[in-house]
Amino acid sequence: MAHLCIAKGDDVSLLPLGRTDSVEVRMRNGGEYTFHSGPAKGDQKLGTRKAGSRRLVLVPWEEAGKLKWPLICSRGIEAYVNGAPVIGGLHILADRDAITLGERASAVFFLDEDPTRIQPFPGARDPVKCRRCRTPILKGQAAVRCPGCSQWYHQETGGKECWTYKDAKHCLQCRHPTSLDGTFSWTPARL
Ligand SMILES: [Zn+2]
Ligand SMILES: [Zn+2]
Repeated sequence: MAHLCIAKGDDVSLLPLGRTDSVEVRMRNGGEYTFHSGPAKGDQKLGTRKAGSRRLVLVPWEEAGKLKWPLICSRGIEAYVNGAPVIGGLHILADRDAITLGERASAVFFLDEDPTRIQPFPGARDPVKCRRCRTPILKGQAAVRCPGCSQWYHQETGGKECWTYKDAKHCLQCRHPTSLDGTFSWTPARL
């Protein structure tokens, strides 16, 4: 699931981006961002520029089973992604994009990464082999899908623990950390 992320010093706040919501990002006078997540409101309000508040809207759409998050802003709103102005009022966000409103230095980050977690293997049309032991992963077997490269690994407590085999620190394929503490591999503080 994608998240929006604001870092204030060492403090990182995250907003999970759900399946049906649109998300409004507002900037107050002091340069502080606020989020509002909820059902989409009428387009007529998009980009209205109330004194001291600037806003952007993210409205998800689904493509090939994956949610895309376009950033929508209208004329008169100075929005930047990674320092470049948003052309045409629309920008499809990618992992680790930095969104800023105006020339303020602080940014909202878009993270498109699922924290690493153990899950029952959902099954697939063709057999899927574990990247470590090269044997098939069976439907329902506890497994980890690497958030970096999407490779699957066994991870059964007391059984095949291929993701963390011999205290492996990284994915064999892409070097993604194998930590299972539910944190992201990257946060703005690590820039
Ligand atoms: Zn395995
Ligand atoms: Zn990987």
